Amino acid sequence: MSTLYIVATPIGNLDDFSPRAAEVLNSVSYIACEDTRNSGVLLNRYGIDTPTFSFHQHNEHQKVEHLIQLLDANQPVALISDAGMPGISDPGFLAVRAAHQQGHTVSVIPGPDAATTALVASGLPCDRYVYEGFLPHKKGRQKQLKQLVDEDRTIVFYESPYRVVKLLEELVEYFDENQWAAVCRELTKKFEEVVRGRLKDLLGEFGSRSELKGEFVIVLAPKGYDE
Ligand code: SAM
Repeated sequence: MSTLYIVATPIGNLDDFSPRAAEVLNSVSYIACEDTRNSGVLLNRYGIDTPTFSFHQHNEHQKVEHLIQLLDANQPVALISDAGMPGISDPGFLAVRAAHQQGHTVSVIPGPDAATTALVASGLPCDRYVYEGFLPHKKGRQKQLKQLVDEDRTIVFYESPYRVVKLLEELVEYFDENQWAAVCRELTKKFEEVVRGRLKDLLGEFGSRSELKGEFVIVLAPKGYDE
């Protein structure tokens, strides 16, 4: 029996890496990385030379088996993703479930994630919230949006820079255009930006920008919330 460590990594600022996270990554037999090259930057920075292997959404099913074999052989493994908390819109869930099912210990080393960072930064109600992550690109997208229309908790969406205006257009269409929201961009990074406003105004602002770069979280206040 061994331990699977789930280790959160920074979402942009490499200084947001805890001493305990470094200690665990140094102590395990292997680190399963979403992208070994990306993680190499962080591992180099902290002088961690533990062997790595790739563990991403396209090989996750097959690599879970490998990971469990290592744990069965009494080799502790840590799992990290490119950024933030593994399992949150990133590989992780299958490994954690399998480790539990096989009787191994699972230990999470907490750290940054974009959803709660944006939620708190938004200044919108954060006592109750729903994490939606990425909406499906095509099939099921409209259905999912329709199901959310009467949600009375704050909703957190992840979106790529290529679709962020499309998502704002859809939110204006499906929800009340006066509903409060926040667009959180490049959190913890040099060009961090949190723009709050009513949906129609956010669409005006981001729709008129000539270029949208970086990583985005959209936080939508509950129906009926006003300030
Ligand atoms: N596991 C990550 C977490 O814990 O938040 C999420 C990984 S997901 C593949 C990547 C998405 O997270 C981005 O498209 C963006 O929506 C959001 N994200 C990650 N880092 C961010 C940042 N620094 N600022 C804003 N959004 C970010």
